[in-house]
Amino acid sequence: MVMSVKEAFDIAVEYYSDHPDELAALRKLSEKAWYKVYKRLYDIRNKEKVAAQGKAYYNNNKEACDARNKAWKAANPDKVKASNKAWAAANPDKVKASNKAWAAANPDHRKSYSKNISDETWQEVYKHLGTKCSCPTCTWSSTLALEVDHIIPRKLGLHKDAPRAGVDLRRYIIKNNCWGDFQLLCRNCNMLKHRNGGTCNCGNHSGNSKLLP
Ligand SMILES: [Zn+2]
Ligand SMILES: [Zn+2]
Repeated sequence: MVMSVKEAFDIAVEYYSDHPDELAALRKLSEKAWYKVYKRLYDIRNKEKVAAQGKAYYNNNKEACDARNKAWKAANPDKVKASNKAWAAANPDKVKASNKAWAAANPDHRKSYSKNISDETWQEVYKHLGTKCSCPTCTWSSTLALEVDHIIPRKLGLHKDAPRAGVDLRRYIIKNNCWGDFQLLCRNCNMLKHRNGGTCNCGNHSGNSKLLP
């Protein structure tokens, strides 16, 4: 160490100039407590050196360090959780990259996870919107070819920020609880509604298959 207590205190005065309360508290500290402040300031001022020293020490004492870390983590699960959370909040890009790498290394898990989310959101849709095509002239009643339809087309402005289709759209509806603005159509009727400007005509009963309100 290269700093005297006096020097450390001068630095502290500068360092805590915006926090007079903390500085006042520091002035009352014992010498032992001062050592802690001194060490902290030293660490702050010599970040890279301290990091390199720490790394070298770890490399020379790997097993002991790992065991100590492991024991500390086991004894402080809440602190570990909080620290992980803080780290994740401060490093969103790293979290993203790490999640991506993990997903690429575990394709099966990812697949089953996605499938579960997909199934769960569909079950929620069926609960609210049934399992039949909503077109009045259609008799389709199988979930094999049902699609979630924006009753009023997105381009007219209602839920224009909602995802177009798929699991993201289902999650959007679940989250916003806006079931009244959506219906289930079979793929055929959905396409006909789209192509015929809002009317389906799939059952050839012209005039009663308008799918727009
Ligand atoms: Zn239909
Ligand atoms: Zn139809």
